[in-house]
Amino acid sequence: MKITEHIKKANGKTLFSFEIIPPKKGNNIQELYNNIDPLMEFNPPFIDVTTSREEYVYLEKEGLLDRKITRMRPGTVGICAAIKHKYDVDTVPHVLCGGFSKEETEYLLVDCHYLGIDNVMALRGDAMSHQKYFEASKDGHKYATQLVNQVKNLNKGKYLHDVIEAADTSDFCIGVAGYPEKHLESPSLQTDLKRLKEKVDAGADYVVTQMFFDNQKYFEFVKAAREMNINVPIIPGIKPLAVKRHLQILPQVFRIDLPEHLIREVEKCETNLDVRKVGVEFAIQQSKELLAAGVPVLHYYSMGKSDNIHAIASELF
Ligand code: FAD
Repeated sequence: MKITEHIKKANGKTLFSFEIIPPKKGNNIQELYNNIDPLMEFNPPFIDVTTSREEYVYLEKEGLLDRKITRMRPGTVGICAAIKHKYDVDTVPHVLCGGFSKEETEYLLVDCHYLGIDNVMALRGDAMSHQKYFEASKDGHKYATQLVNQVKNLNKGKYLHDVIEAADTSDFCIGVAGYPEKHLESPSLQTDLKRLKEKVDAGADYVVTQMFFDNQKYFEFVKAAREMNINVPIIPGIKPLAVKRHLQILPQVFRIDLPEHLIREVEKCETNLDVRKVGVEFAIQQSKELLAAGVPVLHYYSMGKSDNIHAIASELF
């Protein structure tokens, strides 16, 4: 079922959902299940599964270093199918521009359709670790809007190189990313919102936001989006702080601000277990305010560990 249908069916009640990351190559899927199991009591209508970009590895060959491409956490579509059938829950694979040609994306979408996956998150992806700026892959898309167009075309039977009049075309519901504190490459929030509007005009059905720690920024973002006629659901993404290092990493990687009082509480912590507790308490208070404001879904970034998300959801759902 489409995410937009889940939201409509909930009739104003806020839903619970979360995002997971595939395990590192060579690991078993069981650990992922062990983390999902406790969260199923909160009836998530959907679970997102991220896609990681490829990385370079350097292998020694005859005294020289040979550069090869590898993917540390492959398996997004397989995991989506496995979870969907194990838990009877909708899953949302993240589909990236970066690292994929348009043809590879087409085949990935065909697989999703065969597997009964009804939703995809269309994302550009970040630059690879050695790159300063994002570069489109050979024969790949440069912006998420182009990816949304491709999915939309597929929904109409328009493949890259043929038009197929099939009785059962895909009908993917498409999610895209939104940034309450603007995307790090964007010159201003207003420009970034114009880009978001382009994604929605191209056919995106809903938005999931980047993590934020100040609800006011989310509320202002939604208001500004509505003023620009972006009328699709805007789902807040919430990340509980879990380690002290997050104080440096999150602002650096995502260009987001952390509130002073949260920083102070984390700085007082002696262990990461203490930080985890602070992170949970903060996320509970943040979620309560969002819940009271009637957000459609509270969507949590779990990073594959569920104990803190469980503690938060227990207070809210
Ligand atoms: P876009 O919408 O393409 O925007 C990228 C930048 O280009 C923005 O600055 C935008 O303003 C600008 N822009 C857009 N269109 C144009 C145009 N026509 N001309 C000029 N500028 C333009 N990353 C992963 O690698 N894997 C994941 O699974 C993943 N999941 C995510 C989930 C969520 C909810 C979010 C918020 C992010 C996720 N990301 C993921 C990160 C995402 O890939 C990065 O933030 C990436 O840098 C931007 O992706 P986007 O889809 O927002 O790109």
